Amino acid sequence: MKYYSTNDSTAEMSFKEAVIKGLPQDKGLFFPKEIPTLPAEFFQQLPSLSLPEIAFEVLQPFVTPDLTPEALRQICDEVFTFPIPLVEVEKDIYALELFHGPTCAFKDVGARFMSRCLQTFAEPGRPVTVLVATSGDTGSAVANGFLGLDNIDVVVLYPENGVSHIQEMQFTTLGQNISAVAVEGTFDDCQALVKQAFSDEELNQHRNLSSANSINVARWLPQMVYYFHAWGQWKKLDPEAEQVTISVPSGNFGNLAAGLMARQMGLPVTYFVAATNLNRIVPDYLETGVYSPAPSVCTIANAMDVGNPNNFPRIQELFQNNLFALKKVVKGFWADDDEIRGTIQLVHQASGYMMDPHGAIGYLSLRQLLPELKTPGIFLETAHPAKFKKSMEDVLGQEVLLPEQLQVFLNKQKQVTDLPNDFAGLKLLLMQQHKEGTL
Ligand SMILES: *Cc1c(COP(=O)(O)O)cnc(C)c1O
Repeated sequence: MKYYSTNDSTAEMSFKEAVIKGLPQDKGLFFPKEIPTLPAEFFQQLPSLSLPEIAFEVLQPFVTPDLTPEALRQICDEVFTFPIPLVEVEKDIYALELFHGPTCAFKDVGARFMSRCLQTFAEPGRPVTVLVATSGDTGSAVANGFLGLDNIDVVVLYPENGVSHIQEMQFTTLGQNISAVAVEGTFDDCQALVKQAFSDEELNQHRNLSSANSINVARWLPQMVYYFHAWGQWKKLDPEAEQVTISVPSGNFGNLAAGLMARQMGLPVTYFVAATNLNRIVPDYLETGVYSPAPSVCTIANAMDVGNPNNFPRIQELFQNNLFALKKVVKGFWADDDEIRGTIQLVHQASGYMMDPHGAIGYLSLRQLLPELKTPGIFLETAHPAKFKKSMEDVLGQEVLLPEQLQVFLNKQKQVTDLPNDFAGLKLLLMQQHKEGTL
């Protein structure tokens, strides 16, 4: 498969080049030259296929020839080791639980897949340093995805007072090839430092820098896999039904872009919902036709606090910038914090099912839109509710227990380097660590 840039359809890169570069020079996004369709037999078999089997079939055309079938099969076996169950919450509404991985959020899937690709492509004797800025979930998923891999070091930059305690423990206690840097500043400051590092010539001569943000094709594409899996599971539960709506709680819109790509490959999903919090750029665009990014607004669904969604150009590419065609398939929805809290409470009282603030927006969108769309619905539960322990306990008035995966981090030793918010300090740190071979 060749990839072009959404800003320049003539440029061509291989999968390997696109993974290593992350972002095209012209600041567009990498996009596959062709979108293959899967044969009817694949969909007939889907309900009985395992996640690694689905992953192999879906991803093979996108990684050939840079990954051999054997290499891809091994990566799929290593990445998809945890269940992604479809759970019935009430009649005709199902949750796809994407939080059973090591850091309890859907980002585990993409981060684990990308880490294995990068390791396969790294040249021996030329270690790669993955530099990543995080507001919480990305840092933990990337750090855990890359933990223990040869030839790759990860440096996570985070705002010293900007992440939850559990999130911080997930990427500061790992040791080995993972180091954490607490920056005296905000997430935007961290992101600016990372950008500056990529453009610093001297630093790039010393270290082979790579990025692991959600724009990377190796994080984006594997997210398609669980849409196919969800449909297969749903068919098993409801073999007669033909039409289905999937609601995707969205921030940067990488996850929804992957779902729409799966549909383009033949997955028979009737509608998707672009469900957001108060950062309602995309729902507003669907309603008014005006796309206006804005500074992000803080909400209790904080992993979706994005005012300028970085993956949206991929959705525009999929629909060839045709708003009319997009609106036929994608329905917009947004909810404020009070609606999120009320929904969590209501569902918990009614059925005992505990939704996190992000998944709750997906659920609410289905409750409001399904009567009109006249299909059953699936919403993505993008993170475990305990990742938002404090908000959840405030809403439900009861203790929310941590799953085992999260609990283990709390008893470990934190290792952090503190850094003022200036580039000279980061550069010195990265150069020094390199010389001493401590990374
Ligand atoms: C990252 C994240 C999202 C948003 O996903 P996008 O692909 O950026 O739209 C939603 N929920 C949770 C819990 C997340 O961590």
